Amino acid sequence: MTFQYVAPSNLLSNKTILITGGGDGIGKVCAKTFAEHGANVILLGRTQSKLEQVYDEIEALHPGKVIIHPIDFKSASIEDYKILAASLDEQFECLDGLIHNAALLGARSPIEFYPEQDWSDLMQVNVNAAFHLSKVLLPALSRSQDARMIFTSSSVGRVGRAYWGAYGVSKFALEGLMQTLAEEVENTTAIRVNSLNPGGTRTAMRRDAYPAENPETQPTAESIMPVYLYLMSPEAQPIHGQALNVRGFEAI
Ligand code: NDP
Repeated sequence: MTFQYVAPSNLLSNKTILITGGGDGIGKVCAKTFAEHGANVILLGRTQSKLEQVYDEIEALHPGKVIIHPIDFKSASIEDYKILAASLDEQFECLDGLIHNAALLGARSPIEFYPEQDWSDLMQVNVNAAFHLSKVLLPALSRSQDARMIFTSSSVGRVGRAYWGAYGVSKFALEGLMQTLAEEVENTTAIRVNSLNPGGTRTAMRRDAYPAENPETQPTAESIMPVYLYLMSPEAQPIHGQALNVRGFEAI
């Protein structure tokens, strides 16, 4: 059964939440949904024109709630991450949410033939970027009274699956990063850290992964937003260090 959660329209008032991959797919819908519920949203993404489109859509309905910051995780330097963190420190007292959502899919191929370039690109974008961002933003997250960090996972990051190569392995790495961070911050901050597998969702990545599938058979990104909202809500504060799934999700 689909998880039902009717979030109050002011659920995220006074919250500042950063979403990676905010220009498309699940990240874009997450950004619009969080802004609709009162949050300031900071959108990171690779394609400036996509970010500008989302900016315009949010700005039209919720003026002053959105900031875009184009960045390519494949080539970003440590300095780029530090500049981002410093700029956010100037604009916001703290950060209340960090949604690690951006990812590359890469080749589906046996390891024996897996392209080396895809392997290093996926590790850079899917794993290293999440480490660098978490590292530079932890001070701002620590200043929040109730912050959330969500690592976007996948079923192939929980149980290995043939031919999913670097994508699956990168999601396993995120699960490890999530568990490590969760234990580190549990007693010293109000940051709650979890991973979330959205499950098959009607986006460009899903179409790339399953080109023969009828996209209509997959739930839309909008339909999975109740889980994202719930995880950002005060009720979800006790959920920490968990590998969660949208499918079958239940409130505590
Ligand atoms: P999309 O491909 O639709 O969106 C991915 C986002 O990541 C895009 O905004 C993209 O930016 C951004 N991105 C990719 N590469 C980079 C980069 N080098 N630097 C910065 N940003 C980058 O994917 P989904 O919305 O489907 O996926 C969102 C998350 O959900 C991912 O972590 C994915 O692994 C996970 N997931 C998705 C499932 C599904 O069925 N859709 C199932 C399970 C997990 P741009 O648009 O500019 O390229």
